[in-house]
Amino acid sequence: MIEKTLVLVKPDGVERGLVGEIISRFERRGIKIIGIKMVRVNKELAMKHYTEDITKRRGEHVRKRLMDFIVNNHVIAICLEGVDAVENVRKIVGETEPRAALPGTIRGDYSHISYKYADNKKIVVPNLVHASANKEEAEKEISLWFSQEELFSYKSVHDKHVI
Ligand code: ADP
Repeated sequence: MIEKTLVLVKPDGVERGLVGEIISRFERRGIKIIGIKMVRVNKELAMKHYTEDITKRRGEHVRKRLMDFIVNNHVIAICLEGVDAVENVRKIVGETEPRAALPGTIRGDYSHISYKYADNKKIVVPNLVHASANKEEAEKEISLWFSQEELFSYKSVHDKHVI
C-alpha cells in the first residue's frame, strides 16, 4: 500500500550538517519527498508532537528533555510517500537507542551513545531523526506539521522504475 509518513531531521542533524546525507537515504530507496520545510519549533507545536504518549512510554523526564531539546530550535520537516513507507522509513532510520542502532541505518551510521549515558547526563539521546511509528501516528503528525497546500503530488521516475 502506498503510504505517507513524517520525518523530522532534529536539531542535532541540522546543526551537524547532515540534512542532505539523511534525505539522500530516503531518495535512493525510491521514497518520494512530497513536502519539505525548515521549522523553528514553538512550545505549542512541540507539546502536540511529543504527546502524553511519550510520558506513558518513556517517562515525564524524557518528555521534558525532548521539549528542552526541540523548542526554539530548528528542524527539517519532511513528508515522504512510498509503498509501506512507515515501516520502510523506520528501518532506514534504525533503533531509537544509538548504541543499539545497526550500521547502515541513519542512527547506526551517525550516532552511538546509550540511554545510560544520556540519563547520567540528563539529556535526550540525540538520534538525529524522528519518524512516525505507525500509520495512524503518521496521519496525525503529517496534519500537525503540514497544511494541504504544502503537500504535492507528482510523478517521479520511481513510479516507473522502482515501484
Ligand atoms: P522514536 O523516536 O524511535 O520513535 P520514542 O518515540 O520512544 O522513539 O522517543 C522519542 C525520542 O525520545 C527518541 O527519539 C529519543 O531522542 C528520546 N528518548 C527516548 N527514550 C529516551 C531515554 N531513555 N533517554 C533519553 N532520551 C530518550
